[in-house]
Amino acid sequence: MSDFVDHYMDPTEVTARFTGLATEFPKLTELIDLPYKTNGYRRNAQAQFGTAASTVYVTSTAYGSEGGNDITMSLLSPGTANAPLMVSVAGKAVTVSLATNGSGAITSTAAQVAAAVNANADAAKLLTASTYRGNTGTGVVAAVPVTGLTDNLKAPASVSREPFQMKVLRIGKHRDGSKVGVFLYCQEHAREWVTPLVCVESAERLLRNYAKDPDTRKIVDDLDIFILPVVNPDGAHYSMYDFNMQRRNMTNYCPASNADPGRSNAWGVDINRNFSVGSVFDGYIGASATSCTSDTFAGPSELSEPEARNEVWLVDTFPNIKLSMNTHSYGGYFMWPPGAYKADGREVLPRVDQGTEAYFWTSSDYILSRVQEYGGTAIWPGRTGPVTDVLYSAAGNSADEHWYNRGIIGWDFEVGADIYNPATGRFTAVGFQPPFAEGHEEAMEFANGNIAILEVARAYATDKIQPKTSLKVVKQEAGATAFTFSTSEPANVYYTLDGSRPTYGSSKLALAGMREGVQNITVNSDITVNWFSIDIAGNVESNYKPDGQGSNYNKQRVAVQ
Ligand SMILES: [Zn+2]
Repeated sequence: MSDFVDHYMDPTEVTARFTGLATEFPKLTELIDLPYKTNGYRRNAQAQFGTAASTVYVTSTAYGSEGGNDITMSLLSPGTANAPLMVSVAGKAVTVSLATNGSGAITSTAAQVAAAVNANADAAKLLTASTYRGNTGTGVVAAVPVTGLTDNLKAPASVSREPFQMKVLRIGKHRDGSKVGVFLYCQEHAREWVTPLVCVESAERLLRNYAKDPDTRKIVDDLDIFILPVVNPDGAHYSMYDFNMQRRNMTNYCPASNADPGRSNAWGVDINRNFSVGSVFDGYIGASATSCTSDTFAGPSELSEPEARNEVWLVDTFPNIKLSMNTHSYGGYFMWPPGAYKADGREVLPRVDQGTEAYFWTSSDYILSRVQEYGGTAIWPGRTGPVTDVLYSAAGNSADEHWYNRGIIGWDFEVGADIYNPATGRFTAVGFQPPFAEGHEEAMEFANGNIAILEVARAYATDKIQPKTSLKVVKQEAGATAFTFSTSEPANVYYTLDGSRPTYGSSKLALAGMREGVQNITVNSDITVNWFSIDIAGNVESNYKPDGQGSNYNKQRVAVQ
């Protein structure tokens, strides 16, 4: 059975859905409350008076939902000559009586009004006043009647204004850490509305098909699956109700010069740039450390955001997690580390080794064939591979965090492949929020992909087959012989050329280059090659113990003419 989503859902609804699944399937699931609550779908209340050099804007101390929205402010012309600038507060009403000259005309400038408000102890408890975008505020302000401050948030009251409790649904027959764990997570970027549906559809299929479908039962019985449907709930609420192109969370790190109400759609931290590996703070590119209004703002420091810390907490708390999938949109990509490079000489994070790269390619063939099965959508070869090769550098992304810090295979989907338009003969991009009919198709396709990942993970978890290798001479000239190894499955090969016992410290067979086969090794005199291989699941050829004493490794003489 499939097809469990029929509309776009906000994080409140998605989380309620997951809570319902946990209640309905208590034997197969548990709900994990992640330890760090988000800042919440909430904002300080603001009001702005005047334009340009005559502008003053105010920001409430309390969030709008916690009293900020009840504050009012007015700029009054006193109607008398030679009046002083005065600020008075009655309850939550701030009244600024503006200064006048001898003929009764207003003389208070924006800077003077802001300073007077901030100097008034009662007013300062309620709000802070600023001039506009760093302007010195020398313009004379105009009188403005009583104006309410507002957080301007438009979600219905059913969307809580409190810090959000993120929840992971853990699915598995044996949830004791003894099974290989897989972490599926969605919607790090708020505007990618299809992505939570991929996580919801995946969870529903696993649980509702368990009783009748033997393939599903194998997955749920043999794996420990952690699904986080919305990594960025505050931003996602904001995207659905306030500003659809919101990518980041809602936490505003901007100074007063960028914190006026007109900037409210430009605040927040890009969660997928806030991690600690290959970050902008380490010199990698594809994020901003300095611009609080950049759409790839990395935050004030690595892991500053609760959303990112929750991901790290999960993979640290459940060390059985060995594979992960970070689902984004759009474009139709399937990618893996490395995901970042430095500007200087385009220095990339270390490439995965030959055996792992081979495993990724083999796995991707299977996973993408399952995506394609749903509706014929092909993921183009140019959109499969390491992030840095097929897309861009994304400093501080979560897949790199998982792989380089913990050895967790960190995959990324970008759902929503371009669609062929027969009328124009061209492919067109689907966008972040396609009509639901298209979003539904993408959710089905990539839920197929997630199930395929779980099948790959199960194969990894249950793999007991040792790899087999052979040495092949590929070229012989006078004084030089080149050879390489072929393997029965993706595996790393460790070898020595000096007759010594091969260990994990020995030379490791490498790739000849990006998207190329394995390297050739050239020798200039007769030697004996000693080697063994190990697959991604840790099975060693012939059950050899590289850190033991045995001699059951492979040996072969290579002759040079
Ligand atoms: Zn994204």
